[in-house]
Amino acid sequence: MLRQNLEELRGKALQAVRDARDAAALETIRVGFLGKKGELTAILKRMGSLSPDERPSVGAFANDVRAAVESALESASGRIAEKELERRLAEETVDVTLPGNPFRAGRRHPMQTVLDDVTKIFLGMGFSVAEGPEVETTYYCFDALNHSPDHPARDPQDTFYFDDETILRTQTSSVQIRVMEKEKPPIRIISPGRTYRKDEIDATHSAHFHQIEGLAVDKGITMADLKGALHTMMTGLYGSGVKLRFRPHHFPYTEPSAEVDLQCFACQGKGCRMCKDEGWIEMLGSGMVHPAVLERCGVDPDVYSGFAFGVGIERLTLMRYKINDMRLLYENDVRFLRQF
Ligand SMILES: [Zn+2]
Repeated sequence: MLRQNLEELRGKALQAVRDARDAAALETIRVGFLGKKGELTAILKRMGSLSPDERPSVGAFANDVRAAVESALESASGRIAEKELERRLAEETVDVTLPGNPFRAGRRHPMQTVLDDVTKIFLGMGFSVAEGPEVETTYYCFDALNHSPDHPARDPQDTFYFDDETILRTQTSSVQIRVMEKEKPPIRIISPGRTYRKDEIDATHSAHFHQIEGLAVDKGITMADLKGALHTMMTGLYGSGVKLRFRPHHFPYTEPSAEVDLQCFACQGKGCRMCKDEGWIEMLGSGMVHPAVLERCGVDPDVYSGFAFGVGIERLTLMRYKINDMRLLYENDVRFLRQF
C-alpha cells in the first residue's frame, strides 16, 4: 500500500518538475513533496503501520524516490536558469542606434583658468613652479621674512596658530625662503597656493584664499625687471591696454616695496563705482628682496639681488570676469560657474 503511494508520488512529482516553467514553480514543488509538511514526509510518517519485515525495503524505496525527485529538481533548475538567461539576452539587446543620454561636461573654475594663464605666462619667462607647505612655522612665515617680533601679522587675532611656532601660512612668501635655502641663484619661481587669515568673510575677504608668489634672484636684477614681469603678467591676463601704477609701500621683506595698482577698466582712470572713484584698483604687493632676507638664506646681497611679489588669485579673477563678490567663487554653484 505504502509502496504504491510512493510510486504514485514519484510519478506526480516528476511530471510536475517537467511542467515547471520557472524557479519559483520548482521551489513550490520541492516544498510540496519534500518539505517538512510535504507529501513524502506524510507518507513516511505512516511507516509505523508496516510490519518489521516490510520496513527496510519500503524505507529504501522511499529514499530512492526522494533522490529521484531531488535530482530531477536539480537538473530542471539548471535548464530553467539557462532558458532565463537566453530570454534576458534576447530581451535586453541594446539598440546601439538609439541616441545616448546627454552627459553634461563640467568646466574649469574661473580661478583655475586664471592660475593656469598666469603659470603659462611665467613659464614663458623662464620661471618654474615651486610648492611649499600650508602648515608652516613662524620662522618661514615671519622671522625669515624680516618681521619684527611684535609685527601685527603675528597677532593670534590675525593668524591661525596650532602652537607657538606652527601656523596656517598667512602668505605664500614662506616659499621664497624655502626655495632660497635649497637652491643657488639664478632663481626664478612662482608658487601658487592656499593661504589663511582670520578675516571675517565678506564680498572682498575670506579666511581662506589663494596667492601666487613670484621670486627672481640673480646678478643685476632691478626694479625694472619687476615692472617688466608684472606688466607681462597683467597684459597677458587683461590685454595690451593695461596701465600699472607702482605706489611706494612698506613690507618687512622687500626694500624698496611697492603696491601695484591697475588702472580701472570701467572708467579708464576717471573714477567710478567699481574703483570706488579712485580710478585705480589695488592688485598686489611687490618689491626688491630685502638684503637681510637674502643673507639669512645664504645668498650674498653684494653679488645678487632679486624681486618678489605676491598676488591674490581671487583678486585677479574678480577683475578678469568683472565679478563683484568673492564669495561667488567659493559657493560652487554650477549655474554661476557655467558662465565662464
Ligand atoms: Zn573706475
